[in-house]
Parts: sequence; C-alpha cells; structure tokens
Amino acid sequence: MTNKFLLFILSCVFIALNFIGCSSSEYVNRKDKTVYDSGLSPYYEIPTALTDSSKIADIISDYSKFLKGKKIIIDPGHGGADRKNSNRDGSVIEADINLDVALYLKSFLIDAEAEVLMTRSSDQTVSLDDRSKIANSSSADLFLSIHHNTTSDKMDYRTNYTSTFYHARENDYDYEPYEHQIAKYIQRDLAYAMRNSGGLASFDGTISDYLIYEGDGFAVLRNTKIPAVLIECSFITNRFEEKRLGIKEFNEIQAWGIFNGLAKFFKNKIPSINLIQDKCEYTKDQLKLFVTVDDPFPLNVKSINVWYNKSEIDFDVNPIDKNIEIYVQNPIEGEYELKVVYADKRGFYAKPFNRKILIK
Ligand SMILES: [Zn+2]
Repeated sequence: MTNKFLLFILSCVFIALNFIGCSSSEYVNRKDKTVYDSGLSPYYEIPTALTDSSKIADIISDYSKFLKGKKIIIDPGHGGADRKNSNRDGSVIEADINLDVALYLKSFLIDAEAEVLMTRSSDQTVSLDDRSKIANSSSADLFLSIHHNTTSDKMDYRTNYTSTFYHARENDYDYEPYEHQIAKYIQRDLAYAMRNSGGLASFDGTISDYLIYEGDGFAVLRNTKIPAVLIECSFITNRFEEKRLGIKEFNEIQAWGIFNGLAKFFKNKIPSINLIQDKCEYTKDQLKLFVTVDDPFPLNVKSINVWYNKSEIDFDVNPIDKNIEIYVQNPIEGEYELKVVYADKRGFYAKPFNRKILIK
C-alpha cells in the first residue's frame, strides 16, 4: 500500500466520522441558528437520599437539630401578572419553576421543624415592596428569594450556570458578610445537586447584586432588613436546562440542594451580638452604648467593627467579659443607626446587628 493511498483512506475515515458526529450531536443550524431537538434525555443525578426513605428521614432528623425553630421566608420570584420570563417556546415559565422549587423546599424545611413563611404559595401577583414588607414584619432568620435566569440575547441557548446573590459589595456600608456566608453555603450545595458550575463573575459563584444594578442591587435584597439572599438556580433559556426544569423530580433536587446548604450553614454555632439597654447611659455630654458578644470561643477582637450614624467609630473592648463599649460625644437629638460586625476565630460572622438609637 502506498503512503498516498493510506492517506486517502485515513482522510475518508476522518470525513465519515465528522459526518457521523454531525448527525448524532449537531442540532443547531449555524446559518439560521435554528435549534433542533437532540432527542437526548435531560441529564441529572438523583441524590441517594431522595430515593431511600430511611436515609432521607435520618438526614432530616439530623438537620432538625440545627433548623428547628429557625424562621425562614421563602420568596418564589414573579407570578400572577408577572409571567413573562420563559424559555424560547414559552413552555417553561420561570414563575412556575420558582414556585415548584419553593414548595419542595418548604416541605423539607417543615420536616426539619423549621418555621416557613411564603411570600406566595400559588400563581399570584405580589409586588417587590410587599415581599420585603412581609420579611420586615416577620423577625425571620432569613429571606430566601428563588429565581431562574434568562439570557437577554434570545439566540443564546448555551449560557447556563448557578448563582447566589448577596446585597452590596465588600466595603459598602450595606454589605453584610453574614449574608455572603449563607450565599456561599447555598451556592455550593445547590450547584452540586444540579451538576451546574457557578458563573465566572466570581470565584465561587456568589455574586454581589451591585454587579447587576450598580449602587442599588436587587430591590428585594435592598429593602429587606432581615438577612436575605437571592438565588438564580439556572438559566431556563438553556437548551438542556429547559428540559430538566420541566421535570418535577429535578425541581425537587434543586430544593434538596438549597435545603442542604441551609442546614449545613445553621449547623455552625454562629456568634451573636446583643445591645444591653440597662448598661447604656445617656447624658447631654455623652452617650454610652453597651454591647455583648455571645461566642463560645475566645473573643476575636480584631474582627470587630462599629459604625454609628453610618461612620466608623472607636470603641473599647473587654475581651474577658466579651463586651464592647461605644462612646458618642455630645449626642444630638435624632434617630441614628448602630451597626456592629463581628466574626469568631473560625471566620463565622454574627447575624447582622443594626439597631435604631433614638435620642430625645
Ligand atoms: Zn426572576
């Protein structure tokens, strides 16, 4: 066999393989960008816990140690008059998928003895303002807004990833590292359950909402005064994702991912900050504010930051009694905000501490 003839045969095989490859996996006409059904089944993994009733009972019973009594507000995005976000052919509506995932999550949380409040439990209109009002009058531990993403380019059927948003950026006054920490826990377990990666806008898939609306962020995160995060589970416009999202079992898997992230977060003994009113003192020359830190570990003094009237202010620390004393000289009548941020030695932040201080 001559080398030329061998080369000819190899070329034929290569061209033939290319054609076979095209017919089995290429389903996008690159000229007119029409997307054809690949005929492939949607891919997802069912967590073993969801197929084994004794295993799920064990896990939920374990998680109830950390979730029992926790008050969680679940906010399924959109709904009612707002049903415009959908996949290309309109068969998968974001509002419906958000609600589906939210109801599965509610069920897991109730089983783990958490208290759950929903901003909507059916296909109804709830304004963004009302969603925040429900949260702000609840004294809940967490507000969790559930969404699915869409691309702005209607021809983009490829983009897909999981992201979890927190409000503001590090170094902004409104940034709460506690919220960012919860976002990380949810993001990790949700992305894993869905077998999605995080987006490339950040290293771990958690994203500041200022990246979308600089200086404002998302209204539900900006206006909600209890800890809040917003999840964009995946893109309903992705050609594979739109198929998975139409399957109830997959929506339960998403809820399972979020549930696992929440339980693992609350499993950590989180420090807390409290204002002791009896020990606060007021004269016309000076206001003394007295705050205690509840932390089983030795006090992590260098992590403490205090703001009064949105400006950083000096303070005294008693590391043995775990007290912080803040002195405001020549206080003026009015309403002010006291904000304290604290992280324990492991790096776990206390629940956001923001108190209105009224001087009259
Ligand atoms: Zn949405």
